[in-house]
Amino acid sequence: MSRAHNFSAGPAVLPVSVIEELQAALPEFQGSGQGLMELSHRSAHFQAVIDSADARLRRLMGIPEAYSVLFLQGGASMQFFMGALNLCGPEDKADYVVTGAWSQKAVKEANRVCDATAVWSGAESGFDRVPGEGDYDAREGATFLHYTTNNTIYGTQFHGVPSCHGTHLVADMSSDICSRPFDVAAHDMIYAGAQKNLGPSGVVAVILSPWALERSRTTGQSRPGGLPSMLDYGLMVDKGSMFNTPNTFGIFALERVLAWVEGLGGLPAMEARNQAKIDMLYGEIDRSDFWTGHAQRGSRSWMNVTWRLPTPELEATFISEAAATGLVALKGHRSVGGIRASLYNALEPESVAALVDFMQDFESRKG
Ligand code: PMP
Repeated sequence: MSRAHNFSAGPAVLPVSVIEELQAALPEFQGSGQGLMELSHRSAHFQAVIDSADARLRRLMGIPEAYSVLFLQGGASMQFFMGALNLCGPEDKADYVVTGAWSQKAVKEANRVCDATAVWSGAESGFDRVPGEGDYDAREGATFLHYTTNNTIYGTQFHGVPSCHGTHLVADMSSDICSRPFDVAAHDMIYAGAQKNLGPSGVVAVILSPWALERSRTTGQSRPGGLPSMLDYGLMVDKGSMFNTPNTFGIFALERVLAWVEGLGGLPAMEARNQAKIDMLYGEIDRSDFWTGHAQRGSRSWMNVTWRLPTPELEATFISEAAATGLVALKGHRSVGGIRASLYNALEPESVAALVDFMQDFESRKG
């Protein structure tokens, strides 16, 4: 087996020990006589898996007991619409802090069901920072304020909970969930596609406060015929994420990834591990003018590091030479160009050390 150093933005690298556990579960799962993907979601075996995933996420993130946790399908993109549909009626207002392409998509989808607007946008400066406290306000009577904790494409991140200016806070945590301790109780809704820090694609974790669940039930009653079943948080909570057949494989993988995180010491340990990685990589970017970081310093992401080389030609050479030495998926997002290295939880510090060695060698030859 020859595994490259995988800097993919998602789906992304998983811990090898988890992949081996998945492999072992496929032919036969825990004495059931059936493989993991061949088991009924109504079996006691699978119920134990989803219960454990729920319990682990609660323990790791410190999710208040009264909050609900769901494991749904449709990716984070479905939550752009589903969140607004459940929290807002057609007359309600929802405010968005737009820090990149994903928040742009979130506000567009929300606009289909309520009055959604950007109260701040970083578009003019190429999304190179997140706003500070005084940069935006919430509209009078807004139902919630939505933000993207980490901007996967541009490589910027909020390093604290932004002010919600008296309204309710909703966070898309797709690309930094479980990367460090986080104040869940300051939020009414959190969602995250699994394919970066939690497991494979095809599962989205949704965390709802009692207020958010209640909003789902009341907005549902106010819509003729109620909410569509598959888009109804209240129903999903009542059915324990199993109104229909969930992604059983994906939820098992997520449960194993969370066990791996807990085994390493939980989110404080992830924070230390991730801090060591970004110190190495931003240290190298700051060492030489050959590299130009995209994000402003105070907004730098710990998960997706984005930078430029002096010319697009050098960037293309960098990416292909890196791949030839086993450092893969370093091409920046097609809308931004340049280089992007994603350093999710499962990426080993040795991979970052190998990247920094390659960067220094590349600069000594081409700089
Ligand atoms: N939000 C963020 C921050 C993302 O990075 C992504 C995907 N890269 C999405 C939302 C969309 O996720 P999905 O593909 O699961 O719909």
